[in-house]
Order: sequence, then structure tokens, then C-alpha cells
Amino acid sequence: MPPLADQTPDLLRSTLAELQARYASLQSRGLKLDMTRGKPSPEQLDLSEGLLTLPGNRDHLTEAGEDARNYGGVQGLAEVRALFSGVLGAPPEQIAVGNNSSLALMHDCLVYALLKGVPGGERPWSREPEIRFLCPVPGYDRHFALCETYGLVMEAVPMTPTGPDMAVVEERVRDPRVKGMWCVPQYSNPGGETYADETVERLARMEAGAPDFRLFWDNAYALHHLTERRPNLRNVLEAAAAAGRPDRPIVFASTSKVTLAGAGLAFLAASPENLRWYLGHAGKRSIGPDKLNQLRHVRFLREANALERLMEGHRRLLAPKFKAVTDTLERVLGGSGAARWTTPEGGYFILLEVPDGCATRVVELAAGCGLAMTPAGATHPYGRDPDDRMLRLAPSYPSLAEVEAAAEVIALCTLIAATEARLRA
Ligand code: PMP
Repeated sequence: MPPLADQTPDLLRSTLAELQARYASLQSRGLKLDMTRGKPSPEQLDLSEGLLTLPGNRDHLTEAGEDARNYGGVQGLAEVRALFSGVLGAPPEQIAVGNNSSLALMHDCLVYALLKGVPGGERPWSREPEIRFLCPVPGYDRHFALCETYGLVMEAVPMTPTGPDMAVVEERVRDPRVKGMWCVPQYSNPGGETYADETVERLARMEAGAPDFRLFWDNAYALHHLTERRPNLRNVLEAAAAAGRPDRPIVFASTSKVTLAGAGLAFLAASPENLRWYLGHAGKRSIGPDKLNQLRHVRFLREANALERLMEGHRRLLAPKFKAVTDTLERVLGGSGAARWTTPEGGYFILLEVPDGCATRVVELAAGCGLAMTPAGATHPYGRDPDDRMLRLAPSYPSLAEVEAAAEVIALCTLIAATEARLRA
């Protein structure tokens, strides 16, 4: 299709009529599709079906000879911490293993900081008149929801291909009200960016106005490659320690998208001081995590390269779905100038950027065709994308055939919304 920008109003009107006819025919297919959330598909969960029979009868002793069925062990089993030490970039003694959700660990750290303060701080964060968090945008809606629910003011910071715009971050972080920053450093949700070494180093060493400023380093996609390439993310704990700010980062990760999204393991890695702080509070909250699940994971993943093979299984299921989306977008939208999209090398999302003011309309049109998309605005603090431009596509859960159909709908709806916008201009 010729670029929309080059079409005369008459041509745009006939283009729109033709697109509307295609839309009506898609509508008549009675589709019922869901691309809202980055959930693993049933086939991906099947890769870890073996977990369900582990650890097995009478297999409940840890390497230290403890009974995993009982209370205790708030830091998590030493063998699990050793197994994930490389992924987390921290020695086992600087790691804590939680239950199934890393988001819950982030939540808890935020709440402990609010109620009790963090090492290096003068008082609990909740005693400050105002607390701010820097939020790279586009970002993860559940990070934003945590800030919103506890009344933290969010400041959007633009993303670049090498991570958050560091000139902006370095300027804003001088404000002592800024206590923290969300970071998804590898295959970011939803833009897919991986932070460059220099970004990590600047984050680690920058001058912060608040002495107890924290990076909430959510490395959710540490293992989730879609290609042969491996990004080799700079280790933030090492960079911060080298910069004399060892307590700045708190690293989070989980096996939600490695083993089972609802029954995996979550991890926190941090400086010795931060880990003592975290375990001190976590030990009040609970007598200990589910150690049988930890044992089950150790048994399931103990063979050499088991993690790599599992992730390769995920890649084989996911990569064709991502390709189906980008191929379809290219086929329908290529040359029209109506949208840009990412071709991520890992993670769970494709970011689709439509013309200003069109994202809400695309979601509305897609709903009219039976496709549920992540709401427009979800990529931004307070659910407000000032340009109404960004859309997060989550191709993991539906079948390949459904993903193909969904991408067709999204591409067509984008073209319609963009044509309508040009006719209004
Ligand atoms: N962080 C990011 C960036 C995510 O995309 C997700 C899942 N969509 C999570 C955290 C959730 O992690 P968990 O299942 O460990 O709570």
C-alpha cells in the first residue's frame, strides 16, 4: 500500500472503505482471541510437567540434611541458591529464595521500605512528605500499579535502545524525593531493550539526592532469549559495589517463565547489608518458604545444562509466534507508514507504535473483532500514554494459528485507525 501520508483525501476515503470491508469480513469469522498478558502457553507449562511428580515419596531431605517438609529456612535452600547464583550474578550467600512470585518480593521490599526504611536511610519512606519513583517508559504496568497503590509519585523517563535516557535519570535522581527506580534491564517489558554496559555503570555510580535510593532491578527475562544471541548484561551488583554503592540495587528474578508461572521460585539478590535487612523482615512475615518446591526444582534442574535445554524448549515454542506477528505486521502495514514495531531478541512482548492519538482506537476496533488487547496506556504510569501511541502485544499464550489471526486483526485495525486519523488531519 502507498504511504498514507502520500494519499489524497479521495484516495484515503477509498482506502478506508476497502479496509472497512476487510474488517467486516474478519468480524464475520466470530473470533475470540486474547493477547492481553504475557502468560506461558499450556505447551510451555508442559515442558515442566516433570516437576509435578517431584520430589517424590520419602525424598524430602536437603543437602544439609534438613527436612524440607518442616518450618524454617527463610533464606532458601543452599543448593537452590547455588544453582541460580550464575543467573542472578551473586554468590549464594547474597541470595534469598522466595515463593512463586518475584512481584511479591518487590512488593514486600517496597512495603518494608515504607514501614521500616532501608539501610542507609534516616527514616521509613512513609514518613517523607512525598516519595517518587523513576519509571522508564514504556514499562511494566504492575510496577506502576505497586507505586499507585502505595501513593508513590511516578516520574516517567524515556527509554532509548540502550536503556533509560541517562541524562534525564541523572538529573532527576538528584531530587531527594526520588527514592527508587524500576529497571527491567534485559529484554525489557514491553520494548525489549537490554541496557548497555554504560547504562548499568551510570545507574550504579550516579549521584542520588536520597542516600537510601534503590534500583528495583527486575531481571525477569534473564534467560528468555528468542534468538541465538546472548546479551551479556553487565552485573549491577558488581558495578554498584565497584562504584562504592553496594546497597543501591536489589535484584529480582523468578522461574515463572522458566518452569511454572503459578508454582515457580522467586529470587532476591543484593548486598550483604540489604540481604540482612530483607531477611530480618521476611523472617517476621513468614516462618519460611515452600522448601519442597525448592527441592522439586533442584531435582528437576540438576542435570548439566537442564536450564539451557528448558529455555531452548520455550524458545522453540515462542519464536514462531513472535515471527508470525512481525511477519504479518510487515505484510499488512509495510510501506504504509502507519506503525512501527519491535523485533525483540528475547522476553515476552512486541511493542507496536501507532500514529499519535490512535492506540485507544486500535484496541477498540480489535475488541469489535473479538480480540482482547492490553489496554492502551498500560505501558505508562497511571495508565496514561500522553500520545496515545504505544501498544503491548503478548503473543505467548494463544496457539500459533490464533496468534496469526490476532496479528491480522491488529494490523488491519492499525491501518483503519491510521487512515481515519489522516482523514481528520
Ligand atoms: N516482572 C516483569 C518485568 C514481568 O514482565 C513479569 C511478568 N509479566 C513479572 C515481573 C512477574 O514475575 P513473577 O511471576 O515472578 O511475579
